[in-house]
Amino acid sequence: MKELIDRLAVNHSLTREELHRLLEQPEASLREYAALRAREQTLRCFGKRIYIRGLIEFTNVCKNDCYYCGLRRSNSLCRRYRLTETDILACCEQGYRLGFRTFVLQGGEDGGFSDATLCRLVETIKSRFPDCAVTLSVGERSRAVYQSFFDAGADRYLLRHETADSEHYSRLHPEPLSAKERKRCLYDLKEIGFQVGSGFLVGSPYQTIDHLCSDILFLQEFKPQMIGIGPFIPHRDTPFGSFPPGDLELTFFLVSLLRLAHPNALIPATTAVGSLAENGRECAILAGANVVMPNLSPPVHRGDYALYNNKLSDGAEAAESRALLDARLAAIGYEVVVDRGDYIER
Ligand code: SAM
Repeated sequence: MKELIDRLAVNHSLTREELHRLLEQPEASLREYAALRAREQTLRCFGKRIYIRGLIEFTNVCKNDCYYCGLRRSNSLCRRYRLTETDILACCEQGYRLGFRTFVLQGGEDGGFSDATLCRLVETIKSRFPDCAVTLSVGERSRAVYQSFFDAGADRYLLRHETADSEHYSRLHPEPLSAKERKRCLYDLKEIGFQVGSGFLVGSPYQTIDHLCSDILFLQEFKPQMIGIGPFIPHRDTPFGSFPPGDLELTFFLVSLLRLAHPNALIPATTAVGSLAENGRECAILAGANVVMPNLSPPVHRGDYALYNNKLSDGAEAAESRALLDARLAAIGYEVVVDRGDYIER
């Protein structure tokens, strides 16, 4: 099995059959070996530098009804909010002072923010903070709208494919959402020129090893600049409220495999891994991640951006606690840097 890891480190791809073999009950020694090789790879591309992105969760209103997500429109218990442009700019001001040079505007698919409003917002942020990158994560749009976001100055776009398998996708999302449309969005974003982030949920209901192989193969083909994966975590007020959470060890193993397949991709230690384990973020970094995305949203609203239960937004996850984050990453030998942290073709 270690030979497969070595091959992945050299060729950056494996076949479905090979991935199957790796993912069927990987032993601890194999996971450790993959993490070791992944760390070597990260070190070669990035040294011990960790990039930070300030996450601004600017609206929790969503027209979609994804079965796993606490922001789904049918969740009447979710207390909805929208930040104003002034709120968002204040988050950026604070983030800039704290050393953030990337702002990630993430939200539900909220018709309350028109495409033109989002373009204006991007323009304003880019003109006030010309040395910063703006990442959007606002779901599925037409190609023309994506182009207008790009023309307004947005640099990057995050849109996880969630699961690459069409049938599995339909078990996680009601119509009209489809894997085909999600992938259309991703290819449009890439062709337009965004640095694109994709990724998937680990351990989502009904997921099989074959689905995970499809996810890795899709990413091998799509070659995103950023890859975000995280365990599914149940939210009690969704149809998936009683499913178990995804497995953290499997998530870390997948981070290592993805690092080996995508040597210079930007891979975050996601909030979900930090939410399931106190040292989750550190474990993800030691498995090959090189980005963290602390929360810059106004603290008063953080609890309402509840994708799942017990979502972390305090401690080192809070942008204002940068010193704590720096100390925790220094303790495992890594350094947080003030840098846009763009994708670099090598
Ligand atoms: N609306 C945008 C979109 O669709 O990409 C961005 C917001 S969406 C809430 C951000 C991400 O949250 C999704 O890509 C999904 O993977 C993740 N997410 C939602 N519910 C989750 C859950 N129960 N457990 C783990 N991650 C979840």
